[in-house]
Amino acid sequence: MPRRKRSLVQNILEPPPQKLPSSLDPLPLEEEQRVEAPLRPLRLSEFIGQRRLTENLRVYIEAARSRNNALDHVLISGPPGLGKTTLAFILAEELGVQLHLAHAPAIEHRGQLAALLTRLGPRDVLFIDEIHRLSSVVEENLYTAMEDYRIDLVQGEGPMANVIRIPLSPFTLVGATTRTGLLTGPLLSRFGIELRLDYYDPQDLCQIVLRSASILGVAIDEKAAFEIARRSRGTPRIANRLLRRVRDFAQVLGNGRLDLPTTRQALERLDIDEAGLDEMSRRFLRVLIESYEGGPVGIDALAATLGEPRDTLEDVFEPYLLQSGFIARTSKGRIATRKAYEHLRISPPKKSQGSLF
Ligand code: ADP
Repeated sequence: MPRRKRSLVQNILEPPPQKLPSSLDPLPLEEEQRVEAPLRPLRLSEFIGQRRLTENLRVYIEAARSRNNALDHVLISGPPGLGKTTLAFILAEELGVQLHLAHAPAIEHRGQLAALLTRLGPRDVLFIDEIHRLSSVVEENLYTAMEDYRIDLVQGEGPMANVIRIPLSPFTLVGATTRTGLLTGPLLSRFGIELRLDYYDPQDLCQIVLRSASILGVAIDEKAAFEIARRSRGTPRIANRLLRRVRDFAQVLGNGRLDLPTTRQALERLDIDEAGLDEMSRRFLRVLIESYEGGPVGIDALAATLGEPRDTLEDVFEPYLLQSGFIARTSKGRIATRKAYEHLRISPPKKSQGSLF
């Protein structure tokens, strides 16, 4: 097993405060280390689901290792909580190199980027979360680093300007994004490997719940694990958090064992409905139907009515509602589907809104 040596670039890791729903909130660093770290798979063989992606990744890792080269730069995209950070940890572990973590908005100027890059050892992995939020100046300085493993720092201005060329160790940049569409062409083209994470199916999520339960020492029936999986919106982070909360209920209100009735009761208390939708997701649908007659409505209007940032709606709530067929996107905006009306037990309007009804 490769030596485990991790470097957390703590000063630029902390995400800025942001209002996100409880089940997907990124945790502050210490809490994330305490709560999520023990559940994070550290080897590719422990990473459940996303099989095609992990099989390909295994080949790329082996090829880079056998050539003794830095792995090509990797872009990982997908909604929050699907395993982007986990994959960065796994990549470093499997490559037997050190991992450095950074959060894009916290890299405020070129100097900070230079400090980060010059710290990297040969073939190390630099993980930049939310890479679509890099400032353009920082992003432009990243190009030569990614392509030629060097940074050019300009000192002074005008004709007196002096370029200092700093060589870097060959490294692998792992960029994570919830929105590939926001990446600029030049940055996108510098990633040799693109990995897209999809929502997990309930069978895979059930395996994740069972694995987490065994790490946490929680006694759980398979049916209960499947119930949690089924109501986790395809997202491992939600599955793990629901498992922890259901465990609390089982401990306080039951005999500590997670069986199906206790789990169902706990999920009801947590306000997670049959389809796995939480209060905020249902509010999204309700506002769309009741305040905007089912749409079409633009995201900014929805954000204003819901009092939530547009980014949160687009990154966190919409993708799952779209994927599971509760809403659809048209050129004029979002519309509620028949499934949304039925789910909220609201009669759909008489007039049909296209093929969705
Ligand atoms: P992201 O970076 O995409 O927001 P994370 O990598 O932080 O998501 O994953 C959230 C949590 O879900 C992690 O703590 C990890 O334990 C768990 N997780 C994610 N993907 C998997 C997986 N494929 N197998 C097992 N656990 C996973």
